[in-house]
Amino acid sequence: MARLKILREFTQGRHKHADCVTTALSVAEACCQQEGQRLTPLRKRVLQLVWNSHAPVKAYQILDVIRHEKSGAAPPTVYRALDFLQEQGLVHKIESLNAYVGCGAPGHVGSGQLLICRDCGEVAEMDDQEVLELLAAKSRDVGFEITSPTIEIKGRCARCRSKHG
Ligand SMILES: [Zn+2]
Ligand SMILES: [Zn+2]
Ligand SMILES: [Zn+2]
Repeated sequence: MARLKILREFTQGRHKHADCVTTALSVAEACCQQEGQRLTPLRKRVLQLVWNSHAPVKAYQILDVIRHEKSGAAPPTVYRALDFLQEQGLVHKIESLNAYVGCGAPGHVGSGQLLICRDCGEVAEMDDQEVLELLAAKSRDVGFEITSPTIEIKGRCARCRSKHG
């Protein structure tokens, strides 16, 4: 079994993003159904907005759109929808940016490494057991127990690197 799992790849730039959104929404429907949860219209719309691109989106940006569409939509309902999507593993929160990104493989167990491109903002996800085990071992050496092993790594994706040399 491969120890490195790529959960979400960087896109190669131009692609039919509508297909990404359609897939993400239907996978979400299936996941919720399996979990006995309801993907309400608001939750679905929030997920769709998170999937607006492959880059993280901030809660207030989602709120702005929803408010526009549904006058009187209260911020807590949007935050609750984001919490729900996060609990279901449909979106990830990027703590260092305080923003959300759609999960490329909902239902995955390990939350591994999030690779964030500084140039285009895109996020890829991988889950490398070796990295996690190494970190756990090194941490134990200093008496530290890891409870939240997700790592957010900033850099440049291949596409941006080729553009800027
Ligand atoms: Zn896409
Ligand atoms: Zn994920
Ligand atoms: Zn990039």
